[in-house]
Amino acid sequence: MEKIGFIGLGIMGKPMALNLRKAGYDVMVLSQSKAADPLVEAGAQAVSNSKELAQQCDVIITMLPDSPDVEQVVTGPDGVLEGIKSGALFIDMSTIAPATARTIYKLMQEKGVEALDAPVSGGQVGAESASLSIMVGGSEAAFARALPLFQAMGKNIIHIGEPGAGQTTKACNQMIVGITIQAVAEAFALAEKAGVNLEKMREVLLGGFAQSRILDLHGKRMIDRNFAPGFKIKLHKKDMGIALKTGDEFSVPLQATALVANQMKAAVEGGNGELDHSSLLLLLEKKE
Ligand code: NAD
Repeated sequence: MEKIGFIGLGIMGKPMALNLRKAGYDVMVLSQSKAADPLVEAGAQAVSNSKELAQQCDVIITMLPDSPDVEQVVTGPDGVLEGIKSGALFIDMSTIAPATARTIYKLMQEKGVEALDAPVSGGQVGAESASLSIMVGGSEAAFARALPLFQAMGKNIIHIGEPGAGQTTKACNQMIVGITIQAVAEAFALAEKAGVNLEKMREVLLGGFAQSRILDLHGKRMIDRNFAPGFKIKLHKKDMGIALKTGDEFSVPLQATALVANQMKAAVEGGNGELDHSSLLLLLEKKE
């Protein structure tokens, strides 16, 4: 069985690494934060930097916030590139720019290492229940090698195409999710002001064409005023930026994406960047 090094133990990474451990993999993590504690309790080894981790592992997985974080962990001092062995496999599961994924792929190829971009959808719930959707860019052979690992973390696992294709797919996913959250938030803000019972509205709409996982889960969060993340609005703002840049690259006008990206920017600037993205509702409630 391959030895897995996992870097980035946040809301998503911690349960994903725990699921690999539960599936019987030998897992190594960085010992820099308290987030490593439950993994060490579950039998994972901890080391102090990414270079050391890469030297000792066959597969290195990253689950970090943004493109510069992945670049820093890979190319920075004591980073993955300094330690990674020829023949190893590098998998980035963070949501980052497709162009950055392609750059990392090339850097890894120069070291004799295969790389996959494998971002996920399904949120904290999906990470905890090992039911994530995983969208993968990279070679067929690397995908086949990684598949058993993906199966320990997810359910709907698709090889999309060449390096970067996983991240482009994820940008599209984030457009759909962001625009849908805004739609649910607007419907809820209007219904509330008009004196309609939100719980009853959600229940009846879940049986019709407006049904979606967003209406179900994020709608429930809005009713319960449960805005603890979940998915931080500042990270979703980052993803809408990736989508807009990709739209520019291919001359596709992404008008609704731009509108929701602006709402997310306003939320972050208003100090709500650490809240769940369902908190887009708060911006609509402010307006008199
Ligand atoms: P998070 O902020 O909870 O976790 C990020 C983790 O990375 C933190 O533990 C942080 O300490 C760690 N980190 C940052 N820089 C580091 C470094 N240099 N070395 C080691 N660790 C470092 O974020 P998250 O919600 O887990 O999201 C991670 C990625 O997954 C993001 O790209 C996000 O867009 C994506 N994502 C999140 C969700 C979600 O619902 N939360 C769903 C799908 C995809």
